[in-house]
Order: sequence, then structure tokens, then C-alpha cells
Amino acid sequence: MFYKSTRNSNLKVDSAFAISQGISEDGGLFVPESIPGLTLDEIKYISGLSYSCRAAYIFKKYLTDFTDAEIQYCTDNAYSTKNFETENISEISHLFDGTYMLELWHGPTCAFKDMALQILPYFLTVSAKKLKIDKKIIILVATSGDTGKAALEGFKDVEGTQIMVFYPECGVSPMQKRQMTTQEGSNVGVCAVKGNFDDCQSGVKKIFTDNEIRAALDENSLMFSSANSINWGRLVPQVVYYISAYATLVSDEEISLGEKINIVVPTGNFGNILAAYYAKHMGLPVAKLICASNINNVLTDFIKTGVYDKNREFYPTCSPSMDILISSNLERLLYILTGENDQKIKEWFSLLATCGKYEVDEDVKKKLAEEFYGGFCDDNDTKAAISSVFDKYSYTCDTHTAVAVKVYEDYRKETGDKTKTLIASTASPYKFSASVLDAVCKEAEGMDEYDMIDKLYELSNIDIPQSLAQLKNKPVLFKECIDKTDMKDFVLKSFNIK
Ligand SMILES: *Cc1c(COP(=O)(O)O)cnc(C)c1O
Repeated sequence: MFYKSTRNSNLKVDSAFAISQGISEDGGLFVPESIPGLTLDEIKYISGLSYSCRAAYIFKKYLTDFTDAEIQYCTDNAYSTKNFETENISEISHLFDGTYMLELWHGPTCAFKDMALQILPYFLTVSAKKLKIDKKIIILVATSGDTGKAALEGFKDVEGTQIMVFYPECGVSPMQKRQMTTQEGSNVGVCAVKGNFDDCQSGVKKIFTDNEIRAALDENSLMFSSANSINWGRLVPQVVYYISAYATLVSDEEISLGEKINIVVPTGNFGNILAAYYAKHMGLPVAKLICASNINNVLTDFIKTGVYDKNREFYPTCSPSMDILISSNLERLLYILTGENDQKIKEWFSLLATCGKYEVDEDVKKKLAEEFYGGFCDDNDTKAAISSVFDKYSYTCDTHTAVAVKVYEDYRKETGDKTKTLIASTASPYKFSASVLDAVCKEAEGMDEYDMIDKLYELSNIDIPQSLAQLKNKPVLFKECIDKTDMKDFVLKSFNIK
């Protein structure tokens, strides 16, 4: 299996190269040359395996330059109860008849990002070894809240790496901020940026593709890589949990082998839902992919009209990890839907960079509408969804997952579709206690984050993640806040690059 760039179909690199580079030099994203197949027999077979072995089975189809032993080393280390609260790594809860919550937040930082970021450092260090790279790898991360902490936890004290995380000063929840600014580890850095997530992401992307910096890094025996979902090594672990969840639903006799299900994903950067798309096109029986957005609904409009227009107001919401107007991974989807037309992709994404807007062709619009349903809701609807799920089903969901629940309800009302459905539950409610408490009991006022955790425990009876409770006694180690125009200088200074 080789990888191409969405902006250069002639490129041919192996997965170790794609993972260690993070992003292609031409500014495009790495994509597999074809989507490997998965038969129903294989799904049945993996249903008898542990999560870690299921993951290894899928990775072998994508990372063909890795040996079986290398893959097993990665999966054994990442997917164990050392890092995850549950032996199953992800859990499935029943919401109501035929509707299942895929809980992806039982890892160390309580968001689904752990599913990929616990394994990415292993992929990356193995890749570097295979390629005989003896440079130190600097991981630059832009985060809307959850990726930052998950990447810090994944990479802390990993030999041969340094990590620097940029987060929007006012764009993350208090708990998310505390998680990041108290991060321990000898190779970690965290910095706030005066701006929003898109500013952080654009800043990081610019630094990545800056030839001057690249040359300077080279002289200093350093190189950049990415832990954002632009890195293929982030995306491929996410394909696994959809397949794994389906296999579990089959072995639990909730669905029959081959029965199609819908998948609902609360979406920001389009990474998580793109992984579901890959799973579907490998052969997983999936009907509709439902893309749920908050009020920053650029994707809803795009799926409905084929016009991507980021020229709109940016709203901070109670689901901050989805406060995004430039969804990077859409580039991979469009590359596939255009029949791998790298010229088109270059044209559209240069329009996005210059005018903030592009419109796809009619045939792409048609394919989009066939595969996806897009919907959105605002903060009031999000909180109403948390409250009604809590009252009706005694289930406590976080704000991001609530957006998915609400959009799914709208979808069912609109279409009458009763296909069994898997909803990606992307964060622990404890990560967003203020909003969750506000929704279920209106009693959060005046409480600090830790009082809220206790209160939420009283109400929900969900075990309190120790990693969050322990933050209370940790000192804040990172206080810096910079202008978005200073990110490059900050990186040069931090890593002593002349
Ligand atoms: C990152 C994140 C999302 C959005 O996922 P994408 O892959 O960026 O679409 C949704 N919910 C939570 C809790 C997240 O951390």
C-alpha cells in the first residue's frame, strides 16, 4: 500500500514516510492509493478478538511496510488497561431501541482523541526508525481543546520527540485549559494564542510549509511532524473503532452480520467522520453518515449546497472542540469524490485560501448528498438535548455528543429512517461539567470545576475519571500567551533554532 498526496497524485510514499512527515510538502494530505477491502467474514472473525488485536488486523491492511511485530508492539502498548479505564478500550451504551452510543472517551484525557493519540507516538517512532531518521522530531499541534491534551499525554517523555501545543486563549473549556497548562514531561510545551482555533491551525500549517524553517531545522538535526488529524497516523486508528463497534454489535446480537447501520458523528475538523467513511468503503455495512455540527455550521451548508464558505462569523460555543470553520480533512474526502483529481483540489483549496470560498462540481454534490446528511444545532438545543437524554434515558452526555443526538433526532423526524444507528460519543461529560450541569440542574453557578465534578457524580453516577480529579493539586506550568503573528518566532525561540 502506497500513499499519494491530495495535491499530487503522482507521489508514491510508504506509510512510514507519510506518518513521519505528517503533511505532504506540496501542502496536500497523504491518502492511501486505494481503500483496502473488508469482508463480512473478516468482520465476524475480528469480533472474537480483543480491541488491540482488532486494531492490528486493520492496520495490517494500511501499514503494509510495517512488520507484524512492529504493529503488535504499537497496538499492545497503546490499547491496554495501563492507558484506558476499560478492557474493551471503547464501550457501547444503549440509548434507546436500536440507537447506540459508542463511548470513545475512556482513555487518559477523557476524549476520543486518545483512541488515536495513544498509538500515534508508537507509529511515529517506529516509522522514524524504519526510515533511519536520526533527527529529533518536533510535534507541532494546533488544538481546539482536546487534541492538545491527548497529544501531550501521548508524547510526554517519548524519546526522540519534543511537542509544542498551541491553543486559542479563549476557545477552550476551563477543564481543557487546566489539563494542558499543568502538563508534566521533559519534552512538552504549551502556549496560548490570541485568536481562535483556525488561527492556531493556519499558523501551524504555515510553519510546517515554511521552507526557511525547514532548512534551519535540517541544519539543527530536527524535523517537524504533526499530531493533528491531517496526519494519516491519526486517522487510521479511528477507522478501527467503527469496525470494532460493528463487530461487537453483531456478536451481542444487536444487529445481524451484513445489516446496515447509520453512523452519527459530532464533527469539527472532519477527521472522525472521514474515518467512518473509510470504514464504510472498506466494506463495513453503513447506510448514512450523519455529520452533526454546532452553530459554526459551515459543513451543514456545504453538504446541502456544495458551496464551502468560511466567510461567516465565528461563534465560541459550549462544544468548543467543534468550533472550526476550516475542516482540514474534507480535502481527503473531496480528493476521493473527484476521482483523485489533484488539480481540482489545488484549485479549490487555493480559492479557500484566497477568497475563503469554493464550490464543488455537480457530480461531487450528488455523491455528497448520497453519502452524507448534514445538520446542526445551537447551544440552547445542545443543552436541551443533554437534559432530555438525561431525563428520558438516564444517560449523561457531554456537549459534543449532545449535538450529535439532537441532529440525529432531527434526521429521524425529517426522514422517518429507523435504521439502527451508532452515535459517536466523543467526550466524557466531566470534561464539560459546567455546561452539562447547567443543562440538567441549573446549579453550577458559583462552583469551581472540582465542585462541579462532585455534583455531576451525584447526578450521573458515572465514575469520576481520576485524571481529571487529580488536576486540582497540580501547579500551572505554562502561562505564556502570544499574538497569532508570533507563532513562528515562538517556535524558533523555543527550540533554539537560529
Ligand atoms: C475533536 C473533537 C470533535 C470533532 O472531531 P473532528 O475529527 O475534528 O471532526 C468532536 N468532539 C470532541 C469531544 C472532540 O474533541
